[in-house]
Amino acid sequence: MKYTPDRPALTGETLDSLTERLRALGEPAFRGRQILDWVYKKRARTWDDMTNLPKALRQRLADSFDLMPAALVLNRQSEDVTDKLLLELRDRSLIETVIIRAPQEGVGLDHSRKTICISTQVGCAMGCVFCASGLAGLKRDLHAGEIVAQLLQVCYREDARTPRARTELASFDNIVVMGMGEPLANYDALLTALRILNADWGLGFGARRITISTSGLVPKILQLAEEDLGFRLAVSLHGATDEVREKIMPINRAYPLAKLVPAIRTFAERHGRMVTLEFILIEDVNDSLEQAEALRDLARDLHAHVNLIPYNSVAGLAWRRPGLARQERFAQVLRAARVSVTLRREKGHDIDAACGQLRLRTEQDRAALPGATPPAAPVV
Ligand code: SAH
Ligand code: SF4
Repeated sequence: MKYTPDRPALTGETLDSLTERLRALGEPAFRGRQILDWVYKKRARTWDDMTNLPKALRQRLADSFDLMPAALVLNRQSEDVTDKLLLELRDRSLIETVIIRAPQEGVGLDHSRKTICISTQVGCAMGCVFCASGLAGLKRDLHAGEIVAQLLQVCYREDARTPRARTELASFDNIVVMGMGEPLANYDALLTALRILNADWGLGFGARRITISTSGLVPKILQLAEEDLGFRLAVSLHGATDEVREKIMPINRAYPLAKLVPAIRTFAERHGRMVTLEFILIEDVNDSLEQAEALRDLARDLHAHVNLIPYNSVAGLAWRRPGLARQERFAQVLRAARVSVTLRREKGHDIDAACGQLRLRTEQDRAALPGATPPAAPVV
């Protein structure tokens, strides 16, 4: 399913592509940087904010570009530490972006470390049986401009909460690509977006503070390993043997562990950084001692960090998280072998839980909006 916007999003343009488009409009080369400076450094919200551009040019730009392709429709502060931004795209698709604040000793929440969890697709095609994002399948890929727009919306939100010096760029510390969708299935748009976020003319956000989470698209992991920017990689393993993984993640049929593990190793070696193995604990599915031992061996072999995530129940799905004792018993097998492991408990305080809860309750969310309107026709 393809969606073609009527005008390109300004937030999807690189300095080169924008300069090229401006040249076609008969504008000098310096305009590109000038405009991007307004967008990313000064956070201009309208064309008329860009006061050093001639008025006639502002009008031409407004006709040629979509300044912000994602509108904030709801800001839900679910718990004290997470903030969910519900964004509506031009085709009326809804996506969520989450701000997770990690409380730190002695500082208020406004000054805590902030991790932003972003989406890359509307829905997901991978069909993992435990995941709500994939329940309705894939609606469409996000454009690069829609991915970047999520971070700008977060900047607007955070700038309003804690006014910052104009020279300060991003108002958050980490980006995790763990929201709705399989990021590596939308590779080109993702990479364009991350380059824009990383560039000095963009948000100037360091690649090493960006973690991409994948369900294990082996060829794309290998492609990512060759990129010049050193993003961090997290792999959703969720099964330490093919037998268990295959039951819950259909992708394991195409890329079983015998293919996935070497790809992870290649990535880790290429970037000299620990990869994270994510492992949701689901009662009676993957929480046995045998799975813990198999995971331990894989993690040791790959020199990987393991992130254990107690499953968050999803309405309509029967899966459950194991009890605390069983979670602890699983983690202990890894710790005993000196594997670096985190086991998150506090629900709301947990990055993965918050992201894992990026549930596509699109229609319920829409119904909850002030002045709710009926759902839009599907995009074809
Ligand atoms: N598609 C990518 C990134 C988005 S999913 C991936 O699968 O890695 C982000 C993380 O949330 C993944 O590790 C995913 O397995 C996890 N997740 C999905 N549903 C969850 C649930 N109900 N409880 C906890 N984590 C969940
Ligand atoms: Fe898609 Fe990730 Fe959910 Fe699997 S876990 S269905 S890959 S979003």
